[in-house]
Formats: sequence, structure tokens, C-alpha cells
Amino acid sequence: MRDRSRALFERSKALIPGGVNSPVRAFGSVGGTPVFFREGRGARLVDVDGREYIDYVGSWGPLILGHAEPGVVAAVQAAAARGLSFGAPTELELEMAEVLTGALPSMEQVRLVSSGTEAVMSALRLARGFTGRSLLVKFEGCYHGHSDFLLVKAGSGALTFGHPTSAGVPPELVAKTLVLPYNDSAAVEETFRLHGADIAGVVLEPIAGNMNFVRPTPEFLRVLRDQCTRHGALLVFDEVMTGFRVGAKCAQGLFGITPDLTTLGKVIGGGMPVGAFGGRRDVMAKLAPLGPVYQAGTLSGNPVSVSAGLATLKRVLEPGFFERLGTATRSLVAGLVREAVAAGVAFSGDSEGGMFGLYFRATRPGTFAEVMQSDREAFNRFFHAMLDQGVYLAPSAYEAGFVSSAHAPADFEATFAAARKAFAVVRGG
Ligand SMILES: *Cc1c(COP(=O)(O)O)cnc(C)c1O
Repeated sequence: MRDRSRALFERSKALIPGGVNSPVRAFGSVGGTPVFFREGRGARLVDVDGREYIDYVGSWGPLILGHAEPGVVAAVQAAAARGLSFGAPTELELEMAEVLTGALPSMEQVRLVSSGTEAVMSALRLARGFTGRSLLVKFEGCYHGHSDFLLVKAGSGALTFGHPTSAGVPPELVAKTLVLPYNDSAAVEETFRLHGADIAGVVLEPIAGNMNFVRPTPEFLRVLRDQCTRHGALLVFDEVMTGFRVGAKCAQGLFGITPDLTTLGKVIGGGMPVGAFGGRRDVMAKLAPLGPVYQAGTLSGNPVSVSAGLATLKRVLEPGFFERLGTATRSLVAGLVREAVAAGVAFSGDSEGGMFGLYFRATRPGTFAEVMQSDREAFNRFFHAMLDQGVYLAPSAYEAGFVSSAHAPADFEATFAAARKAFAVVRGG
């Protein structure tokens, strides 16, 4: 089984550290060999051995319309035929800016970059430049890309591999990053009481998706907004994952909270490299070339990437898209919980829009500590039993999952049938 993947992985390990170009892909926490894929279409992936999978990773979030969606592919092909990059402004970038600012009232101006990492790094530099302050507040288990000062108690692969705080980051660089527990309003208030005049900004995932899936409490978001306003700090919503994934107005629209700055990525590139950050006009005016905060990129606003993003957003912003996607995703989670209960496995789940969390514990986690109390061994057994039956989940207990508009009821039925067997494996130990 998967012989060709195994052979390719062995060859890759000789030339690429860990055999992969991004750590979680290596299957390090679940064990076994990563699957090498040949192609994807709709909700399905085909690996290099010719085996087919129902995909719930969606390239870690971007592919909200599924793989190789014809409209997106056509837009990319048409853009590529007109030239790959100009390093000069294009009408497409303006169109993207109009779509993003039109969808998000908090975003008066926006700048495009090429990844989520770049978006958050730039937004927080801007927050510091605008306020003239240096302290930043982040939350344990949230991942904001791999820039130095944010790799403290981070989520995603950093968490999966047991190095939430990276080596190679001098202590001086993270000394200005304060890390608090997610959903702990009292800790936020206390931190502002002690350091309020020095805090440039607070950054968070408005639904945490890099320590599995953890919802914010309404009170937590309210306190963050209130404390930032009161102390002149900027509230930065990192919506790289949740943006146009949980709703047409992103998480900020769902929760009715207006951040000062927002970062985007993943879905807005539709599978191509696009990131963005934007927000208040007075803050964005501090960016070069208007202001003193420097930020640049050779391939920023790349026409081929932006074309993929625009073709994706056009579909995502159609009326009814998120009602349908949300209903589909809830039915997936409900079906999996039903199978787990029938098998007698402690299990729960949650979802918003096309993003979901599955937990090997009886109740949904509200904190990082509760996420850590889930049964990781059970997850690993479940993961491999599902993989062997052709269901591709993220290879880590600490990642959210994703449903696309290409997933059909038949895909879910096949997933439930696989889960029935997989939960029996979990139960059997
Ligand atoms: C994926 C992610 C990032 C990093 O984006 P990249 O494109 O991988 O650099 C940042 N923040 C959040 C919330 C993410 O999910």
C-alpha cells in the first residue's frame, strides 16, 4: 500500500529536511509515511499510487471550492497567458482591494502580500509603527506564521512537534511578545493594567484553528476590544484561516467585533500564494510609500495569484454560499459524533462555516489546556484507520479540518462508513 509514496519520501528525505517543505506534512506526530499526491478534483485527491481519498485538508484551508475548480483554473490560465508578473500595478489588484474592503467594513484600506506569515508580520510592524510602542500580546496555541517574534507558544506544526517556541529566535526578539491564555479575559485586563501604555497591539485568531478548533467566548472578544480602545492599542484579527472560510464577513462579521487591522490569506488566494492586511485608513497611512513603516514584495499582488483569489471569492460571496457550506459541515460533524457515540468513544466536534474541529474528549475544548487533554493516541489510530479507507484528515490532532463546496452528501456517507470502522479500531485499542 502506498509504495510509491514511500519511495518518493525516502528520496525526498535525502535532499529536503524531513522530506517536506512544511513540517506538519511529514506525518511526524501520527507516524507513518506522508502521502504524495498526483492530482485533485473537487473533494477528491488521487495519490501517486493511484489511490483515491476524500479530502478534508483542502491544502490547509485555501481550497474552499475544492480542487481544480474549473472557474479558478480558467482564471489562472487566462492570467498566465497575459504575463506572469509585472512588478507594477494591475487592475486585478484594485479589483481584489474592492472585493476585500467591500466585504469587510473594518477594512478601509488593504495591502496585498504573498503569504499569511507576511501579512501578520507586516500588520504587527505597522501596529508598532503607528502606536510608537513595542509590546505585543498573543495567545497560547494561536499560530500567526513563522516570523521570529510570533514563534512563542505557537500552534500548528510548532505545537504538533513539541517546539511551540522555536530555536533560532534570540530571547531579545521575543521579549516584547506577551503570551496569555486564550479566552482568559481576566489575564487580558491584568496585562493592560500593568503594561497598557506600552502595548502596541493584540493579535489573535478570532476562532483558533491551529490548536484544533477553539471558539472565543463573546466576553473575551468584548474585553479585548474594550481594553485595546481604552489603552490606545490596536486589535488585530488574524483571519488568515477564518477569512471567507467561516462566513462572507469573516469571523469579525459573525461576532460583531470591529478590529483595527485584519490579516487574510488562504481562501483569498484560492490555492495560490496571496495574503493581505488592512484596516483603519489612519493606520494604513503609516505604510510606505505614504508613511515611515516599510513593507514591500517583488511578487506582491501577483496577477496569476490574484486571479485565482478573485475567481474563488466571486463564488464564495454569492448569496447562500455559506448557508449551504455551514449546513454541510454541521452534518459532517454530527454524523461523526453519531458514529463515535455508537462505538462508545469519547468524542465531540464543532464547526463554523466550512471549518471544523474534532476532539477525542467528551466535551468541546474552550482553552489550550483543554485541547491538550484530548486523547492524542486515539486520534492517531483514528487518523490511520481513516487514511487506509481513503479519507484524508490533517495529520495532527491540533489542526482544524475543512469542507469545500465540492463535498457532496455521498462523500459524507462514505466518510461515516469509514468512521464506523475507524472508531471500532480506536475502541479496540
Ligand atoms: C496559515 C496561517 C498563517 C500563516 O500563513 P502562511 O500562508 O502559511 O504563511 C497565519 N495565521 C493563521 C491564523 C494561519 O492559519
